[in-house]
Amino acid sequence: MSTLPTLPVCGRPATIRVEAYGTLDGNPCGTLDASVYVCPDHAAQTVTVLEAAGFATRRLAGGTEVKRCGDGMDFTDPTEVRTLTAPVSGVPDTTSAEPPFKLPECTAPATVRLEVYSSAPGDLYGSLDASVYACDRHSIDTVTAVWVANLTAHKVGMAPDVQRTCGEVHIFPTGTLGGAR
Ligand SMILES: [Zn+2]
Ligand SMILES: [Zn+2]
Repeated sequence: MSTLPTLPVCGRPATIRVEAYGTLDGNPCGTLDASVYVCPDHAAQTVTVLEAAGFATRRLAGGTEVKRCGDGMDFTDPTEVRTLTAPVSGVPDTTSAEPPFKLPECTAPATVRLEVYSSAPGDLYGSLDASVYACDRHSIDTVTAVWVANLTAHKVGMAPDVQRTCGEVHIFPTGTLGGAR
């Protein structure tokens, strides 16, 4: 019987691999019990779920293979190694809605992430509509472009394991721009 807990995975491109270990002869990393690929959004949750189920975990770079959040191998049952397959569907994290602002055309790696908010009635902080990425050189232009479109940009840090290109926009389906309100 597999003893792997249900993992919070989504099928989006994975950039991180999490290994789960079981105890063997008093060594907490005695046996490799599972190896699962996850997207940056689910890495921490996957580690939490695995550790809650009693596994020791190790977080590694995803490698060069194209994997999806949820792909992996389950070795918890030594008589039946199971291949884990990422879900194909799931809630999309972005929509194809067009952003109302024009960002610099640039292919440099992004160094900042900007959260884009629009004001929403009755909501003090408004609606979190999008994440926008910018390189050092274009962060001011990007904030200005967002501001001209009557939106607010809050500069936030980039997660260390996320790689984005300057000018990338992710519109959240839950926000005003994504059509939820
Ligand atoms: Zn995921
Ligand atoms: Zn740039």
